Amino acid sequence: MGLIVQKFGGTSVGSVERILHVADRVIEEKNNGNGVVVVVSAMGKTTDELVALAKEMSAQPSKREMDMLLTTGEQVTISLLSMALIEKGYEAISFTGWQAGIQTESIHGNARILNIETDRIQQQLNEGRIVVVAGFQGSTEEGAISTLGRGGSDTTAVALAAALKADKCDIYTDVTGVYTTDPRYVKEARKLLSVSYDEMLELANLGAGVLHPRAVEFAKNYQVPLEVRSSIQREEGTRIEEEVSMEQNLVVRGVAFENEITRVSVLGLPNSLTGLSTIFTTLAKNHINVDIIIQSMTQEHTTNVSFSIKSGDLTDTMKVLEDNKQLLNYQGVEAESGLAKVSIVGSGMISNPGVAAEMFDVLAKNQIQVKMVSTSEIKVSTVVEEAKMVQAVETLHEAFELAGTTIKL
Ligand code: ADP
Ligand code: ASP
Ligand code: MG
Repeated sequence: MGLIVQKFGGTSVGSVERILHVADRVIEEKNNGNGVVVVVSAMGKTTDELVALAKEMSAQPSKREMDMLLTTGEQVTISLLSMALIEKGYEAISFTGWQAGIQTESIHGNARILNIETDRIQQQLNEGRIVVVAGFQGSTEEGAISTLGRGGSDTTAVALAAALKADKCDIYTDVTGVYTTDPRYVKEARKLLSVSYDEMLELANLGAGVLHPRAVEFAKNYQVPLEVRSSIQREEGTRIEEEVSMEQNLVVRGVAFENEITRVSVLGLPNSLTGLSTIFTTLAKNHINVDIIIQSMTQEHTTNVSFSIKSGDLTDTMKVLEDNKQLLNYQGVEAESGLAKVSIVGSGMISNPGVAAEMFDVLAKNQIQVKMVSTSEIKVSTVVEEAKMVQAVETLHEAFELAGTTIKL
C-alpha cells in the first residue's frame, strides 16, 4: 500500500458542491488501496475576506491575532471535508496544524516549518482513516498558532509528504498544471509536462503563483515527487522532478512576472569601502527585503545605488533611509513606483550564451525600456514599466517560442 498526499486549493474547495467533488477524488485514491492525507485551503476567497475584516479593526492588526483569525478559514474546510467523507461511508478525521504536529519558527505571518511530529497522523493512517489537515498553519514552540505566508498550504502538503515519506504529493488546483506563463494573462500559454525543481523554484520565486516557493524548496531538498494538476479536469498535470527529458529541454521554459515593484535610488553616497554594506545592513536590520541591486560609480568621491523593493515596503524603506541619513551620509533619495519584474527561466540557459542579449533585443524592438537587470545561471530578470508588463510577457513568450495550442481554463 502506498501513501499519497493530496492538496486542494481555495477555488477547488470553494463551495459545498466542490467539497463533495473533492471528497470523491480523495475516495478514488483511497479505493486504489492507498493511505491518504489531504491538505486543504480555506474556501474560495475566505482568507482575503478575513484580512479585510481585520483591517476594519486596525490599520496594523496584531500579527498574533491575525494568525489566530486567518487559520479559522482552513478549519472550516477540514471539518466540512471530513463530514463529507464520513457521510460517503469512509472513516476520516480532521487535524489543525498543531494537532498534525507541524512546528514552526516563533514568528507570525510567514513562519517556516521546523519539524513535524508525525505520530498522530501515522496512528490514524494505521487505523485506516483518511487524515484531513488544515493547510498554511502550524504552532510555535511557545504554543502560539502561526501561519506560513499566503499560499502556504502547498508547503504544508509537501512538508507532510516529506515527513511521512509519501510516495507522491499531488497539488490539485484551478489550472491543469504549470504553464509556460500564467494562462490567465497569456492565452497561448502551454502546459508543461515536466519542470525541474530548480526551474520551478525560480519560477515560483519570480512570481508564478501556482506553487508556494517553500513547497518547491521542500520538494527539492527531500526529493518529493510532486505533480500539479486540475481538481476538475481529468488529465495529466505537470511533474516537478530532478531531471527533465532532453526533448523538452527548451532553452527558456517559462516567463514569470510580478507587479507592484518600486526602484529606490540613493544618490551621492561616499565612495568608501563600507558604504554598500552599511546601507544594506541597515535595510536588512529593519526587515526591508531588497531584490535587484545596481551600483554605479559617478564621480571620484561619490556613488549612486539603486535597488528594487515591493511597492508595499516603500513607506518603511523611506523612513529607514531618512532615520539613518547621518549614518549613511547620502545626498538624496529618489523612488520610482509603477514598475514590474518580468523574468525568463530555463536550465538550457547554462549552455546557451546570448539568451539575455536576445531578451533585451526583443524588449527594445517593442519599445519596452529595461530599468534594471539581474541574472543567475537559469534566469534573467528585467524591471520594466508596469503598464508594459503584459506586453513584455507576451512578446517574450512568443520570441522564445513557448506558445502552443490554446488551452481553455
Ligand atoms: P490554489 O488556490 O489552488 O492554491 P492559486 O491561485 O494559488 O491556486 O494558483 C493557481 C493560479 O496560479 C492559476 O489560476 C494561475 O492564474 C496562476 N499562475 C501563475 N503562473 C502560472 C503558471 N506558470 N502556470 C499555471 N498557473 C499559473
Ligand atoms: N488560505 C491561504 C491563502 O489564501 C493559504 C493557501 O491558500 O494556501 O493564502
Ligand atoms: Mg496557491
